[in-house]
Amino acid sequence: MVDIKEVAENIFVIDDLLYGIPKWGSVYLINEEKKALVDTGPATSVGAVLKGLEKAGVDAAEINYVITTHIHLDHAGGAGELIKHMPRAQVIVHEKAARHLINPERLMKSFASTMGERMVLKTGPVTPIKADRIMPVSGSEVLQLSERQSLRIFHMPGHAPHQLCVLESWNNGLFSGDAIGISVAGGRVLMPATPPPAFDYELSLSSLQRLMELNASLIYFAHYGATSKVRESIETAMTKLKAWYRLIAQAFNDGGYETAFKTIRAQLYSELEPARDTESLYQYLADGIVAMNITGLLKYFQDKRSTE
Ligand SMILES: [Zn+2]
Repeated sequence: MVDIKEVAENIFVIDDLLYGIPKWGSVYLINEEKKALVDTGPATSVGAVLKGLEKAGVDAAEINYVITTHIHLDHAGGAGELIKHMPRAQVIVHEKAARHLINPERLMKSFASTMGERMVLKTGPVTPIKADRIMPVSGSEVLQLSERQSLRIFHMPGHAPHQLCVLESWNNGLFSGDAIGISVAGGRVLMPATPPPAFDYELSLSSLQRLMELNASLIYFAHYGATSKVRESIETAMTKLKAWYRLIAQAFNDGGYETAFKTIRAQLYSELEPARDTESLYQYLADGIVAMNITGLLKYFQDKRSTE
């Protein structure tokens, strides 16, 4: 059963049942005269997204824009498959990432090497998108969906180099992609997302600062759902990022890579505790996200160190 919910006026969250886990992956529908989706989920979520649209009373063929906040496969992997049902839709992506959706070979290789073959199966294939279906953006574009509703696009690198965030004018809500991190288990766990290969600590902090200055009234998290605790969420993300980084630097000085790895792992596990009662999600976070965050943080730390 696909779950959809109106989280602000004419903004719907569709639970795309990412990797079979409830309340982990959000696909948003903005239902105005022109219609937009924010993120698509991977290929294995396409069925859930289509059912969600049906439940919202929207014909997939009416969708005008499919905005990918970034090209990580849990956000954009299903775009090529999904737009087969959306003949009008243009796929919006940062200009420097567009080529990876047109020819996803490198994207898939990078995903397989960082996430492993088991996740490749859970994610499904990445269907190439024809260049004429893609609208590359640099961040600063505005899409007018109706007289009252427009979407302003921002380039917010850090989590990924091509991360976009989108501010909608009618409810003053911010689609944050992964730029603020994940907010799951009903908001009880908020955690920055720092994956390899391209997480950048400094850029991430400066994007968070810029997101704060947008003064949004709502955040629509890609993982998962909406919150009105905007300042609190962004502050928490900044505080945690800084604390994690300090912890790694300290532990690295004390005992090198192994010590840094163990110290940050213990820290991340302790921060996940509040999600323990949501079993399948907790399992995925503990097995997948913790390792991903550690790898991305340590890679950034070591690269940075080697250039200093
Ligand atoms: Zn991501």
